[in-house]
Amino acid sequence: MVKKGIIIINMRCLPFDKLRALLVNPWIHDFSSLNLWSSPLGLLRVAENLSQFESEIFYIDCLKTIKNKSYGTGKYNRQQIQKPLVLKQIPRKFCRYGITPDEFQSQLKSIMPVDIIFVTSIMTYWYTGVAETVKEVRKLAGDTPIIIGGIYATLCPDHALKNTGADLIYEGSAENGLEAVIRNFGLRLNKNSDKKAYYKLGLSQWEFAPLLTTTGCIFSCTYCASKLLNKDFIRKTPEEAFSEIEELFNLGIRDFAFYDDALLTDSDNHLKPILKKVIQKGLTVRFHAPNGIHVRFIDNELAMLMKVSGFKTLRLSLETISPERQRLTGGKVRTDEFENAITILKKSGFTKKELGVYLMYGLPEQSLNEVKEGVKFLKSLSVNINLTEFSPIPNTKMWNELLAKGIISKNIDLLLTNNSVYYYLYSGYDLRELEKLKLEVKSYNAS
Ligand code: SF4
Repeated sequence: MVKKGIIIINMRCLPFDKLRALLVNPWIHDFSSLNLWSSPLGLLRVAENLSQFESEIFYIDCLKTIKNKSYGTGKYNRQQIQKPLVLKQIPRKFCRYGITPDEFQSQLKSIMPVDIIFVTSIMTYWYTGVAETVKEVRKLAGDTPIIIGGIYATLCPDHALKNTGADLIYEGSAENGLEAVIRNFGLRLNKNSDKKAYYKLGLSQWEFAPLLTTTGCIFSCTYCASKLLNKDFIRKTPEEAFSEIEELFNLGIRDFAFYDDALLTDSDNHLKPILKKVIQKGLTVRFHAPNGIHVRFIDNELAMLMKVSGFKTLRLSLETISPERQRLTGGKVRTDEFENAITILKKSGFTKKELGVYLMYGLPEQSLNEVKEGVKFLKSLSVNINLTEFSPIPNTKMWNELLAKGIISKNIDLLLTNNSVYYYLYSGYDLRELEKLKLEVKSYNAS
């Protein structure tokens, strides 16, 4: 964990007996956004870390879901905001997703003052949402330290320091180094208990629970930042993972979303024992795997356990049916392995609606024809199709290739890497043809 930014080493006078910490899940600025099992798990880990010290922890979720849909997913409120100049040519409304600024200010007023503020971040192209959140907090927080962590902060620390108004950018996971950062601001920490799980801290009502049973990935796809965020592949024991599920179940949670990048790796020693325990204990739950899973690792036993234990949403990673592109981008799947996995999953009882397959478009040098062939292939297997736009992520292999080829510049505004923007500007596709294909897929999925 590397820290950047202003480190204040003079002792601050602690005005309260306990450390008062505010955690904020910031707004999203985008053209569209839905809550598909999104939860600020990293920020909740900060809360867990703080829970071992004498502290009062406050949480504001700018992305409070206003309309719950099936299985814990939902919609955000939104307000149209001025489109940044650099996005002028995109013919869509640009919005702030989440609660209104008035609501945010009113929640802040009910909590302030605090000693320290943590704001998380996700997509690198959502940095203006983080910056606006910090600006609003600053109105009431004055010089209270504001720390930004999360994915954007870890991938682009210098950019975050320059563009968000935070005092410090925290790279990496909350497990390592958080305590030192807090002490560096001159704040005292008195340890008085063991860490408590975030769901025991009364921070919010949870519609679903995020589960992260492993961190990192065993593959290194050229467009993915998994290795940059987590160098090693680490996993909880099946017992630890199951006990979290059971505790959440006992609190009334029924929907669980796996956030793992490599959930199915070595399933004989990981996912299978977890699911066997869920079945054996008779927990009636619904599992969702919104991150693409590795179809290569699906076997008969695993598919059957997934079906019986309650998997309702499976997103499978195919991305492309071009063997050459599969190989060049990291080799995580071949089309024959994919076909085999679909046969097994169907045999275990999974339906078309439960099986959604990620198919990418707009990858460098990928023709629209290749995408159309992928759609045709997936239709022949009778699975739902999730078309996903390629968007380059800073410092990945593919990002560096795009830089080397002069397709993007190192000073590119990250707003232009938004998934709704990048393909529009850089794919070279006939956009009417693409829209036709999207509509075709939409009606096929609904059929
Ligand atoms: S398999 Fe998935 S998570 Fe792993 S590197 Fe590839 S895209 Fe990323």
